[in-house]
Amino acid sequence: MSSVLGRTGKPVSADCGEVAPFGRGECPECRPEVRAFVRRHPGQLFCTPAHRVAWTDRTAARGKVLTPLAIVARLTRNGTRLDRETGARAASDQHSLITRWRDEDAAAGRMSHTEYLARRYRAGFDPL
Ligand SMILES: [Zn+2]
Repeated sequence: MSSVLGRTGKPVSADCGEVAPFGRGECPECRPEVRAFVRRHPGQLFCTPAHRVAWTDRTAARGKVLTPLAIVARLTRNGTRLDRETGARAASDQHSLITRWRDEDAAAGRMSHTEYLARRYRAGFDPL
C-alpha cells in the first residue's frame, strides 16, 4: 500500500483509493457480484448486514428441517439399526435436501457451505 494522502488527509491505497486495514473479503452471499469488499473488522465475513441476515435466515430455515433428519439418520446409522424404516427415510430425505440446497446455492452464485464453514473455522468459530 502506498502512503498517499487522500482529500480528507487520511492515507489511501494506490490501487483503489480505499484503505483496508483488515484486508478484503469475498462475501458468501453475493460472491459473483462483489468480488472483494473492505472489511471493517478482522472477522467480517459478509459485505453488508443485509447479506449476513439473508445467509443466516436461509440457513436457519433449512436447519429447522434438517436437524431432526440428521439426528435420526445418525442415531439409526442411516437406517441400519433401531427403527430402520424411519432411519433410512430420514437419511434419504437429508441427502435429497442437502443436494437440492447445494444446487440452489450454486445456481444463485452463493459460496459453498464447505468453503463458508472453512472460513468460519479460520475466524475462530467453535460450535462445541
Ligand atoms: Zn454480499
